[in-house]
Amino acid sequence: MAISYTPMLEQYREVKSRHSGEILFFRLGDFYEMFFEDAETASRELEITLTSREGGQNKRVPMCGVPYHAADNYIAKLISKGYKVAICEQVEDPKQAKGIVRREVVKIITPGTVLAEASLPDKANNYLALLYEEADELCLTATDISTGECLWAIFAGSFRTTAVCDQLYRLLPAELVVVGKIESFPAINGFLGQRVPACAVTTLAMPDSLLVNELSRQHFADEELPGSSGAQAAVGYLLYYLHHTLKSDLSHVNKLTRVDAQDYLVLDASTLRNLEITRNMRDGGRKGTLLAVLDFTKTAMGGRLLKKWLEFPLLSPVGIFKRQDAIADLSDKGATRETLGELLGEIYDFERILTRVEVGSANARDLSALKTSLSVLPEIKVKLQDCQAALLTGIGQAIKTHIDVTQMIAAAIVDNPPFSIREGGIIRAGYDLELDELRSIARDSKEWIQELELREREATGIRSLKIGYNKVFGYYIEVTHANAGAVPPTYIRKQTLVNAERYITPELKEFETKVLGAQEKIVNIEYQLFTTIKDYIKERICEIQQTARQIAQLDVLISLNEAAVRFNYVRPGLNQSRELIIKDGRHPVVERLLAGEMFVPNDTGLNHHDCEIMIITGPNMAGKSTYMRQVALLVIMAQIGSFIPVREASICPVDRIFTRVGASDDLATGQSTFMVEMTETAQIIKFATANSLLILDEIGRGTSTFDGMSIARAVVEYIKDKVKAKTMFATHYHELTELAEYSKVIKNYSVAVKERGNDIVFLRRIIPGGADKSYGVHVAQLAGLPKRIIERAQQILQDLEQCKADVNSEAPAAGKEESAKPVAAATMSLFGSGVADELLAVDVMTLTPLEALNVLYQLQNKA
Ligand code: ADP
Repeated sequence: MAISYTPMLEQYREVKSRHSGEILFFRLGDFYEMFFEDAETASRELEITLTSREGGQNKRVPMCGVPYHAADNYIAKLISKGYKVAICEQVEDPKQAKGIVRREVVKIITPGTVLAEASLPDKANNYLALLYEEADELCLTATDISTGECLWAIFAGSFRTTAVCDQLYRLLPAELVVVGKIESFPAINGFLGQRVPACAVTTLAMPDSLLVNELSRQHFADEELPGSSGAQAAVGYLLYYLHHTLKSDLSHVNKLTRVDAQDYLVLDASTLRNLEITRNMRDGGRKGTLLAVLDFTKTAMGGRLLKKWLEFPLLSPVGIFKRQDAIADLSDKGATRETLGELLGEIYDFERILTRVEVGSANARDLSALKTSLSVLPEIKVKLQDCQAALLTGIGQAIKTHIDVTQMIAAAIVDNPPFSIREGGIIRAGYDLELDELRSIARDSKEWIQELELREREATGIRSLKIGYNKVFGYYIEVTHANAGAVPPTYIRKQTLVNAERYITPELKEFETKVLGAQEKIVNIEYQLFTTIKDYIKERICEIQQTARQIAQLDVLISLNEAAVRFNYVRPGLNQSRELIIKDGRHPVVERLLAGEMFVPNDTGLNHHDCEIMIITGPNMAGKSTYMRQVALLVIMAQIGSFIPVREASICPVDRIFTRVGASDDLATGQSTFMVEMTETAQIIKFATANSLLILDEIGRGTSTFDGMSIARAVVEYIKDKVKAKTMFATHYHELTELAEYSKVIKNYSVAVKERGNDIVFLRRIIPGGADKSYGVHVAQLAGLPKRIIERAQQILQDLEQCKADVNSEAPAAGKEESAKPVAAATMSLFGSGVADELLAVDVMTLTPLEALNVLYQLQNKA
């Protein structure tokens, strides 16, 4: 027999049946309670006590709860653990309810829709992404509802899944909604698990497609909407999900932008990761990233924008030039820059405050912070008049001062308002007449009580008589038992304590009604006034958002200027002749981390007539990868418009940067390192153009020497003949230096080392010409391998080198130790004797078995 629960629990179960995917916060008085499994989960995750409650028919059901005023922190904790929370409120006044109070879910909080400050990263966006497939297009939309921006992109073609992954890596969404099933996108699911593990995946059952299209058309103007029907639907699905969860107005989500590879320097996921642009490889944090070096932003809005600039560097020289101009202009005007920086320091994250205003969760402190932020705008505008650069003067003009809003808040809201908006104390005296009157009644009440106390003492002669107040009985007159005899008959006894009696009088009750009524009215009026101000701001959200975006830009430009000044960066020239010229370039991050040691600068010259491909050899630890990353980072910095750490440079914007570097940590995915390496190489070959920059570190290392060398060589040849991208190729295979002999666009470089006795010194200088030795044994020694191994390795190496020398001079050495004659030497002699050439000339496919035997016989005689 099914249990029949208490009516309240039946109501709970009914609501819960529609919210099985969320933890249901069920409002009971001053608490949010959870029951059944939700209670078990929440008590475990939140470390709160699990209790139980009579559930009907003498059965107890598990329960736990949190006070409503502290709920935000608990919700944030659950969200950060990937849960979703449905908030179920009482939607009618308990005093008026007949039977059980009506309750409804008023919002659902998910990792992608959370708005509480505690759950949002300051200087990064909190994206909710959505994936939808229509025909052959993968459509991705994303929004950060805390700032109101909304992006969309479509991907088609054979590598579309990879392209989606790259985009997801960049956005790092807190939540991905999949229309349909995530299982239909195994590669994306796998990628998220590995690279974006904090992303919660939500599946959205297909709602009516008509409804979805209607939603997107209602929300955005026709000309803003994507042309592709898939992308339009994806935008609609996103809005649908937002309405479903937030259940509030979304007018602050008003900037729909297409993310189009054609407008930006494309950095795929592995490049962003390998180059540690915004997140480091160690723990995904900011430490040691390019972002950390460049970030001197003063506002959270600027911090978020700088991150975005780094993830989407520009392609258009005009755009780059404008930003450079602005940075240069600021450099010339030290005082202006300093003042602007100070003013920006006053500005709060008002982009997100606006969102809280929109969804109704803003409090008086938010408005006060908004006022403080907006009140520096006029001065910023004035300061920007000192500037000449188009971008800066443009920002100066585009910033509105919103004086009306500032004045309104300044006049209405007290200086340090309380957190709660329901307990009064937020509206300034003099702002509202009725409020002032009520307040004076409330204030005068204290005096009135004192007067009454004195009067009653005199009238009764009881000197210890006092008037007090408590929540249950209201105002009362307290008299000790010893004086009970002197109490007049007009006193009405209310409560007896151990040594005193409490009384009320009609006069006292009348007073009480007036005072308490005033208190209640004060709170109501204050709340009403606050709401009116909030609504006034709500009407202006769009324009204030525009100003926020201008402030973010200004902040980023000032931050880049600050970095340039502090670290001696120089404005790079831009060229259209597809050249990359760097004189005395430095690695922006490594140079900051070298404590005391000098960073050794290096030159780079890549172009399409005499050096398209650099083959870089040199011992391990010499600085090959630092050098190659440095070049990539300098190009990225240049393309966001930043100045760069060089003596001088001229850069032609590149369309993509690819990096293929060691993949040891991919082992976790179960793919072999070599397979990962080859897959990535395949993609690079497919997507790279003559305007790309390729950084290839040790391609082919994951397999046997001959295999690896052959693949490496074939890849370089293909890039030279077909792709024609500017390429830096670091390799262990000294044999590859031969390539330079066959092509004038391939050049050899090496990292200089100096031998000092048995020791080597790394000079960190990139010099023309291939390295002839790899010094691996020296590096092994530096790493602390036992002396015995080092000595033996040195001996084997010497023997090997001797063999090679002997083979090359075609004079077999006599009396060498047999033990050291390895297979390689045999191979060498085979090649040296010319037998190999003859062998290669034989056409095996047309040979009869007898002919083959004859060939073998002849070769044997020659060898
Ligand atoms: P490789 O790729 O050749 O094995 P790395 O590029 O990893 O070598 O460099 C090894 C170390 O040498 C780096 O960690 C860095 O500290 C230092 N280094 C590299 N290049 C320079 C330089 N130009 N100036 C100073 N130190 C450098």
